[in-house]
Amino acid sequence: MPETPATAPAPVGPTAHGRRRPLRSAPLIERGLVHEWHIRNRQVTLPHGIAMLEEYGTLDNVRRLTGESDAEFRGMLFADSDIYKTLEAAAWELGRDEDADLRSFFDRTVALIERAQQDDGYLDSAYLARDDRRPWSDFAQGHELYCLGHLIQAAVGAHRAIGDDRLLRVAERFVEHAIARLGADDAVEYCGHPLIEAALVELHRTTGADAPLALADAFVRRRGAGFLGGVIFGAEYYQDEQPALEATKMRGHAVRALYLNQGITDLYLETGDPTMLDAMRTQWDDLISRRMYLTGGTGARHEDEAFGEAFELPPDRAYAETCAGVALFGWAWRMYLATGDAACMDVAETALYNVVAAGISTRGDSFTYVNPLQVRDERPYGGAEPAGRRRWFSCACCPPNLMRTFAALEHHVAAERPDGLDLVLYASATVQAHGASVTIDTAYPAEGSIRIVVSGDAAAGRRRLALRVPEWVSGRTVTLLRDGETVDAVVDDGWILIDDALVDGAEIELRLPVEVDVIHPHPLIDAVRGTVAVRRGPVVYCAVGDADDLMVDADALAARPVARTGGAAGGLLGPRITVAAHRVRTGGAQALYARGVDRATSDEIVVELRPFAEFDGGTAMRVWMPTSGR
Ligand SMILES: [Zn+2]
Repeated sequence: MPETPATAPAPVGPTAHGRRRPLRSAPLIERGLVHEWHIRNRQVTLPHGIAMLEEYGTLDNVRRLTGESDAEFRGMLFADSDIYKTLEAAAWELGRDEDADLRSFFDRTVALIERAQQDDGYLDSAYLARDDRRPWSDFAQGHELYCLGHLIQAAVGAHRAIGDDRLLRVAERFVEHAIARLGADDAVEYCGHPLIEAALVELHRTTGADAPLALADAFVRRRGAGFLGGVIFGAEYYQDEQPALEATKMRGHAVRALYLNQGITDLYLETGDPTMLDAMRTQWDDLISRRMYLTGGTGARHEDEAFGEAFELPPDRAYAETCAGVALFGWAWRMYLATGDAACMDVAETALYNVVAAGISTRGDSFTYVNPLQVRDERPYGGAEPAGRRRWFSCACCPPNLMRTFAALEHHVAAERPDGLDLVLYASATVQAHGASVTIDTAYPAEGSIRIVVSGDAAAGRRRLALRVPEWVSGRTVTLLRDGETVDAVVDDGWILIDDALVDGAEIELRLPVEVDVIHPHPLIDAVRGTVAVRRGPVVYCAVGDADDLMVDADALAARPVARTGGAAGGLLGPRITVAAHRVRTGGAQALYARGVDRATSDEIVVELRPFAEFDGGTAMRVWMPTSGR
């Protein structure tokens, strides 16, 4: 097996046109939140996920192709992608540290996939193991290119993280098959579930081959012809009702839309085509100003897992799929690489610490699929099971997506800028850049102190350190110390720039004021008008308890936005906090609809809030708390 050291280990490889460059070596993570998430991923989530791939028959689907199983095909059409995502996660984990069980899973599963690949390069168990499916016959819902996309991403991860190219050879053969079948100039096909676009760009970055890049470009430019439309939910569901580069808003199935935009942004990063970046900026602005939940969740509608209309953001009916959080995190990272805008990483951290972190239990072996911002104590959204996390799903897209995200998280803490280094996602880590070694110590986001020590000198002209200052800091004082002395902290467009910082012995401390904020929604979000929420730094909080106890009047909180740390000890995202409120009581004779309201409030009560991500189900929960509007 080749053991070539990977020179660009990150999930998004070095790009031709990005304003920022992913780090050339993986940051060392030995403590802190990301470290804890790594440990959980390696010790609990991955072993659990591997067991679930057996229990749900996902691996047997592939074994059926090699004669090693005679089990019927089980699961969704895209079940193979769960295997590829898990392999990708395993590769990133093995790149960080060896693990005998993980290595054994990786090796035997890669060997199985090699054996299962057909002579013509095709590989998809949902088509090869079922008599009722014919390859390349259902582009709208068939997911073959989507699965190939995850195969490519696993292959690229294995190449970069552990120098193992076996999956890369499988992926290249399948891509050759796809190009022969779909790559002609007059071909019209593209996949109903984007992802292949970004993956093909990554393959191009990894091997240097241009044909995958051209195919990705063709898939984006063909889209909008209505080729997919009307199958189940109509063309908009598939982002197929208009050309991708002419769309000005986020629409349709949220996960598909966000993966498509990852691919378009990746294409811009390689081709420099300004029309692609313009389209992405327009859709980005639409997303963050009209269609995103406070938690970074997206997808307001259950029936088609879709973005709703502008400002259609109901908290209780929110779909906000965990995968959409993962997809937004990945798109935000690419937009940051493309533009150098600090604000993109504000969105990335919002998604990470809220909707993505909420997707998995603190323990690491149960998951959410949807992440509403309000849960009553009845069975939510008409589902058959009570609210809360589950150990796996028959449609298991989310858990292995979390595994690959947490496994590669450290690659997003920083990036090279032409004149130095950006720190964008504060975590305890040691980062190498331009010849300097930068060690960061922080308990962010629970605390706002970020301590930085530099050893070694960066190359001349590359010694500037840029520190991201999140938008939630605005209006507050940021403190900056250099070698123990307070210096001016000038925040410009989300950055503090420190010249000549990447020199041996430099010590810098940034103190971000992580305080409790009372957040008011835009007045056009009808579903939460007249309510407030609590956020501490980037972490959104929620109240948990009996539904009656959560019938609160938050006037006191809105008028006096002071919270106290209290209650149970906090986790790594931040402490439990308490706020003042009143309980709402209605008279027993109150009709559902009446000419007047028989309403009274209790004496002031104390409501305990916890990070949204720590809600485990089993009770009611709400993020937005009503005020009476007095
Ligand atoms: Zn999912």
